[in-house]
Amino acid sequence: MRRWNGWGDDSFSMEAPGSGLEFLRSKVTPGSVLADVNLGSVCAQVPESRLPTHLLINTDAETRVRHARGQSLPDWLAMRSGDFGVFPDGVAFPESTEQVQELMKLAYEEDFTVIPYGGGTSVAGHINPLASDRAVLTIDMGHMNKLMALNEESQIATFGAGTPGPQVEAQLRAKGYTLGHFPQSWELATVGGWVASRSSGQQSLRYGRIEQMFAGCTMVSPQGNLEVPTIPASSAGPDVREIVLGSEGRMGIISEVQMRVTPIAQKEQFFVVFLPSFESAKKAVREIVQNKIPLSMLRVSNALETETQLRLAGHEKQIAILESYLSFRGVKEGKCMVTFGVTGNVGQNKLSLSQTRKIFKSFGGVNGPKMMGDKWAENRFKFPYLRENLWLEGYAVDTFETATDWDNVTELMHAMENAVRDSLKDEGAPLHVYTHLSHMYAQGCSIYTTYIFPNADSYEATLERWKKIKAAACETLATGRSTISHQHGVGKDHAPYLAAEKGVLGMGAIKALLSFFDPKQKLNPGTLIDEKIESK
Ligand SMILES: Cc1cc2nc3c(=O)[nH]c(=O)nc-3n(C[C@H](O)[C@H](O)[C@H](O)COP(=O)(O)OP(=O)(O)OC[C@H]3O[C@@H](n4cnc5c(N)ncnc54)[C@H](O)[C@@H]3O)c2cc1C
Repeated sequence: MRRWNGWGDDSFSMEAPGSGLEFLRSKVTPGSVLADVNLGSVCAQVPESRLPTHLLINTDAETRVRHARGQSLPDWLAMRSGDFGVFPDGVAFPESTEQVQELMKLAYEEDFTVIPYGGGTSVAGHINPLASDRAVLTIDMGHMNKLMALNEESQIATFGAGTPGPQVEAQLRAKGYTLGHFPQSWELATVGGWVASRSSGQQSLRYGRIEQMFAGCTMVSPQGNLEVPTIPASSAGPDVREIVLGSEGRMGIISEVQMRVTPIAQKEQFFVVFLPSFESAKKAVREIVQNKIPLSMLRVSNALETETQLRLAGHEKQIAILESYLSFRGVKEGKCMVTFGVTGNVGQNKLSLSQTRKIFKSFGGVNGPKMMGDKWAENRFKFPYLRENLWLEGYAVDTFETATDWDNVTELMHAMENAVRDSLKDEGAPLHVYTHLSHMYAQGCSIYTTYIFPNADSYEATLERWKKIKAAACETLATGRSTISHQHGVGKDHAPYLAAEKGVLGMGAIKALLSFFDPKQKLNPGTLIDEKIESK
């Protein structure tokens, strides 16, 4: 069963090995182990619902608790402490576009706030209800989880928008296709959520971001249904598809979605190579993408992430042998691990692999054992489970991410890490901070930083620590020739920083779109646009 106060399925957990924890303790002294509340005590706090009785609306306390928060660190702290603040008044689970329309009509007539909900995996506060005089209705799309049609001639699949990653792939693979969208939250995130928050998957190099996969949809808005047709490309004015992408539940509810799919590749393999330094690794991957060598994923771990990954992997003896071999080949301290994937037909993969290896070699790269690539593939969706284990050791873990042009990557990465590292200096609390580059483009890439800090001695003080770190991180991005988010979206946490990226006219255009589709502002207030700031 899905955890009510953390990540994933409660029948699975991931332990950090003893040597990994020892390594972490050498970087950051663990903080307090804070006691968790139980589900029953949170359910007991849920106030009476303000919604009328309706066949499609569930108002039981546990369902409302399970839809009150996403997966950001403040959400985590709220769920663990029981300090939720606001709960939705009820949750509806529509099974068809007609039922979504019925709920939208009801919300407009009866003056409810509506929060569209996919998998609830947001890490930016997207689906959290705000305190309001209006009753809040969360609409969980999880019952619309079917592959509804597959047009093999045009390679377009129609899904219910609430279909989560595993069901997208299982239903397509049964027919010989894949969507190829694999965010780390794949286990729970949904196709509608990906479109609404402009998601990017681990193999974006081959399959593209969700923007490239998204062909069309039905979006139920207060103004009526927006039907976006599946045309491969068009020069007919601004693209309505692009209006739906990143709308974050503020314009309507995507009920059905058409996605561009690909036949399953003949073969897929993942590999690891070690480069002597971050600069050599960065230059090598840039050369690979700018030469358009068809890989399916590429990720550069900086030196500290490389060290952290190797220590957290356990297997001390094998890692020691690997490190002495790498050192003998000239790849020593400061080394960076690059993980890459080849996906396609056997002949193409062979060629891509040999061209890639040649470029890495020219930058001093030494191949890692094949087993390391296999392990990455095996564990690619499991790492989020580690947060639970580290939490029990007294550590809070969070990430932030951006994208920038190649000429700005190194400088911005250092600025991001330093901003976070220094953010708790006044409390004397050290942080462990490391970064990888992923989602490579010819012009730049995404930068993804993870930080681990010690819990303070209370939930409130731990949240205050997070706020300081988050502000330092966001201010660095807002002034750093970069985006406030490459893949996690805006939600409520990034909304104050959106204007820095979009400018006055850009913000005006976005607000005009929201008002057109939702003139009474009932859809997901506070997400994407921070009304408190914007009304000043
Ligand atoms: C451990 C972890 C790893 C992650 N890794 C990645 C990653 O690799 N790549 C990545 O892109 N993201 C990642 N994320 C972030 C998150 O998974 C994405 O933002 C994802 O796209 C959210 O999808 P969801 O279905 O869970 O949407 P939700 O979180 O439920 O909602 C997100 C937003 O979309 C809106 N929305 C959802 N469904 C609909 C709909 N049908 N119609 C209209 N609006 C809707 C909501 O109102 C909300 O504003 C990660 C999150 C976690 C917790």
